[in-house]
Amino acid sequence: MIKLEWFLIGYTSFLVFFVYVLLFGQSDYHRNGIIGFLYQFLSYKIFIYFRLLITKCFGKRMETRLDNFSHYFLQTKNPFLMIFYLVVLFGGLTIFFISVFPEMFFCPTLSNLHIFYLIIILSLVFGSFLICVYSDPGIITSENVNNYLKLYPYDYMIYLPKECSTCKLPKPARSKHCRFLNKCIARYDHYCGWVANSIGELNYRYFILFLFSNFAMCVYGSYFMFKILSWKIYESQFFVQQISEYEDSLKDKPKLQDYIEFLLENYRTISGLFLLVTLMAIVVFAFTLYHLYLISKNTTTVESFKFSEFKQFLQQLASENKVLMVNTNLVSPQKSKNSKKRKKSKNEDNLNNVVPLDPNNLKNIYNVGIIGNFLEVFFPKSRRIQKSKTKSLKPKKK
Ligand SMILES: [Zn+2]
Repeated sequence: MIKLEWFLIGYTSFLVFFVYVLLFGQSDYHRNGIIGFLYQFLSYKIFIYFRLLITKCFGKRMETRLDNFSHYFLQTKNPFLMIFYLVVLFGGLTIFFISVFPEMFFCPTLSNLHIFYLIIILSLVFGSFLICVYSDPGIITSENVNNYLKLYPYDYMIYLPKECSTCKLPKPARSKHCRFLNKCIARYDHYCGWVANSIGELNYRYFILFLFSNFAMCVYGSYFMFKILSWKIYESQFFVQQISEYEDSLKDKPKLQDYIEFLLENYRTISGLFLLVTLMAIVVFAFTLYHLYLISKNTTTVESFKFSEFKQFLQQLASENKVLMVNTNLVSPQKSKNSKKRKKSKNEDNLNNVVPLDPNNLKNIYNVGIIGNFLEVFFPKSRRIQKSKTKSLKPKKK
């Protein structure tokens, strides 16, 4: 029975490690280490080797088919991952409602109130999923582009003024052209295949709600099944007998693996689902935590990679005894009341404020403190401006 315990520990550790590699393998800390190597292997090298293998085995025609499929699967908006999510979700819920839920009525430690908790959690999960699928991530159009240009200043490090070659519109800082939607998205975070939509300025808050509700569902499901399984152990009297035998020194005290063995033998479906849901809770928790960390620093998934690349570029320059100069006036424009005086000394100012960038002391100009950063996600800047505009318009009409 020790084997099963070790298998479970090994399986959990492997899954946690796998998720860790995928989430943090591209970070500054791991990029040049084993984790970084594993990330590169899993994220694209494995596909290159697979493609080579297919070409060797089946020839050029199969290679073209594979390329077409991988382009459709990886480069276009498609419903595959979303369908996969729904199949897993509905599959899990079907097993839950057939094998687990009816047990609630025979389990005195679970009250009937849990029916309402279930309704609330499932409404949250499906509600946030639908909102994420159908919400506007913050598509940049000719009507709103000027507004976004004002809201997000360029940092002249990872964002410089330029035009999107596809949309033919100026590219506001923090925006990115999403190849899946073929549109520029404001404060672009990433494209999420699970909801088949980009995650940007306007729907990042719904994405966080989606992650949180999935985490809540897994934790709740895990708690619910734990209660039922504990009751089953208690109800069986099997261990009561063993413990009394142990007290009479006739047998060894039952160990954790004895309990696991008993549950897997007698309640395989509930135990299996319990394990799966608990593992899912750990994975979703890690991902939610990662996004909360990004929010606290006011950075996005894309920016965190861009920033570490930029830092590496500066370090490379430093190793060649070169520096990159930046005008601090451009990065944080200072508003002066005395505009005439400012105009006169503008050239002087520009020269005085040109400083070399220190790769070890780069500042994220969008970071406005933890509370401000969270408020920016839950009350997007572009929506705030619209509201204040409509407010300022009202008195004028009177
Ligand atoms: Zn674009």
